[in-house]
Amino acid sequence: MSNSARNVRRGLPIVVSAASGTGKTSLCRALLKTLSNVSSSISYTTREPRGEEVHGREYYFVDDATFDRMIGAREFVEWAEVFGRRYGTAFHTVEEQLDAGTDVLLDIDVQGGAQIRDRVAGAVLIFLLPPSMDELRRRLTNRAEDSPCDIERRLAEAKEEILASAPYDYLLINDDFDEALSTLRSVIRAERLRRSRPSDLVQRLLSS
Ligand code: 5GP
Repeated sequence: MSNSARNVRRGLPIVVSAASGTGKTSLCRALLKTLSNVSSSISYTTREPRGEEVHGREYYFVDDATFDRMIGAREFVEWAEVFGRRYGTAFHTVEEQLDAGTDVLLDIDVQGGAQIRDRVAGAVLIFLLPPSMDELRRRLTNRAEDSPCDIERRLAEAKEEILASAPYDYLLINDDFDEALSTLRSVIRAERLRRSRPSDLVQRLLSS
């Protein structure tokens, strides 16, 4: 899409959710690298940074008091408690990018997805599924981050998340990574072309 055409439309809010172990993070990273005009929304969280994570890149890491203040000041378009920690998306992060015509990828949980659907016009909600629950168990075991007890807990939570995916627009199975990435890109490309999205493309074309 040319810059002139891109600037006339508001960006597309894209929510991607999945149960942990489904490969959401890798898929979202690959999407950001291979699709133009889409950027990620950086969330606020009260959890500690892990490994190489950097404040302002993966997350804004804040303390509970700061998070409470932001809730009080209505700075979040959505927020939720996930695995005992709080995560939230700030209005300004999303709105500034959407207003600039950039599509915004929100890698958030199903509670957040439901809030975005209700509060952000035109949001597209995509839920990633594992090919099977056996495969999900295998992936969680192979990444060796959790104890057997934690893996059972994550599987139980995965079932809850999958059941909560009912309001999502698209279900995408992440079996083969490249195929899932290609399907994800196709969904976004098609959504960009929806006639219902505010755009003055037709007027511009006819008056050119
Ligand atoms: P992690 O701590 O592993 O980075 O993320 C844990 C979960 O929190 C993931 O499912 C992730 O998508 C979700 N998450 C990350 N940021 C947000 C956010 O801003 N809001 C909500 N609702 N969930 C988030």
